[in-house]
Amino acid sequence: MKIEYKLIYSKRKTLALEIKSNNQLLVRAPINLSIQKIEDFIIKKQDWINKKQLQNKKLNIDNYKQNDSFLFLGKSYPIKIIANNNPISFDNNYFYLNSKDDIKAKFHWFYKQEFIKIALIKIKYYAQKYNFKYNKVRFKAQKTRWGSCSSKNNINLNYLLIMAPIPIIEMVIVHELVHTVHKNHSKNFYDLLQTIIPEYKKANTWLKQNQRLLMQFI
Ligand SMILES: [Zn+2]
Repeated sequence: MKIEYKLIYSKRKTLALEIKSNNQLLVRAPINLSIQKIEDFIIKKQDWINKKQLQNKKLNIDNYKQNDSFLFLGKSYPIKIIANNNPISFDNNYFYLNSKDDIKAKFHWFYKQEFIKIALIKIKYYAQKYNFKYNKVRFKAQKTRWGSCSSKNNINLNYLLIMAPIPIIEMVIVHELVHTVHKNHSKNFYDLLQTIIPEYKKANTWLKQNQRLLMQFI
């Protein structure tokens, strides 16, 4: 059995073990103690070593969690790594991840699901209320635009908008719905947008200010 440890001899009378934060085993030993005796001691203490190293691992994951938070509907939430069947879940306090692997992919999946739920409700609501006729709605992450509306009134929405507050999402959705009537950014376009979303300019400013933060998630 090969035991990995760092040995420091010193003028001391007893053996001491220490688990470093990187989980390395440090052994402090009296100068005249044989390697055989040191390793016998380590083997005897193996349960304690395992326990300490496991605690350390948990601590490291906790640190990771505290440093990392993710946006959802305009607010930032920390992540927690827990044993779970679900790769990612959310309880309005934390994002729960089942491992540190593929965190970005997990968030893309989550963001898309959640955005589709919200966006479909909003788009139906505004289309019905203001009599907009649209064709298909597609959702994808994009680095350059929040939404678009084709000549056939197919609407594309950037699901990274899920990181923005709801009023911002509504503004983008209504912006694209107004394009089903006005294909350009004419005065008529903005007049209609303003009657539905009076604060659209504020929302646009927010998007410009936060564009890099949100779109860098790709
Ligand atoms: Zn536009």
